[in-house]
Amino acid sequence: MFQCRMCSENPFNAMFAGGGKPEKEKEKKKKERRKSSSRRDAAAFQARSDEEVAAAIKRWSEYAHPRANDFFASPEQLEDVLRQLAKGIDKNDDPILGDEGKCVYWYGDVTKEDLQAAIRMVKPGESSESVTYVNRVLAFIFATDESFDKLMKLPKEPFKMSCGDQLCVHLAHISLATAG
Ligand SMILES: [Zn+2]
Repeated sequence: MFQCRMCSENPFNAMFAGGGKPEKEKEKKKKERRKSSSRRDAAAFQARSDEEVAAAIKRWSEYAHPRANDFFASPEQLEDVLRQLAKGIDKNDDPILGDEGKCVYWYGDVTKEDLQAAIRMVKPGESSESVTYVNRVLAFIFATDESFDKLMKLPKEPFKMSCGDQLCVHLAHISLATAG
């Protein structure tokens, strides 16, 4: 299996590590819990039709970084992830190709603890689904090598969004900053 040249850890694990967090960290997280301060308006959500979901999967597949093809066991697994993304985002919004001046809100599942956009996916090498942060999935599939290298150095938590809205899932709004 491909290994990152710069480090011995495989990039997929670096990107999607997780599962249970140590109890102490969980407690800390609770205290830091963000207020739900998203500008998202749930009532405004317009779902994609099946045809529109298929079209989005096709369009986004073309922009997937080769690393995604390397790490998903099959093209269907990648498609399944893209399908969940397409279903959790308004039909007029595009987190990869959309206008950077506008946030792309997530209307799918969120984590209970800290209200982060999340999907369930089977990670390569695993047999059952687990919860994965949407912005980490997006970065894994679509980020340029340069951005990806920076993001891999950040803590294995949901990425901070530079627009300040954690329910925004615009790829271009993922913060590359290492602190704050
Ligand atoms: Zn945003």
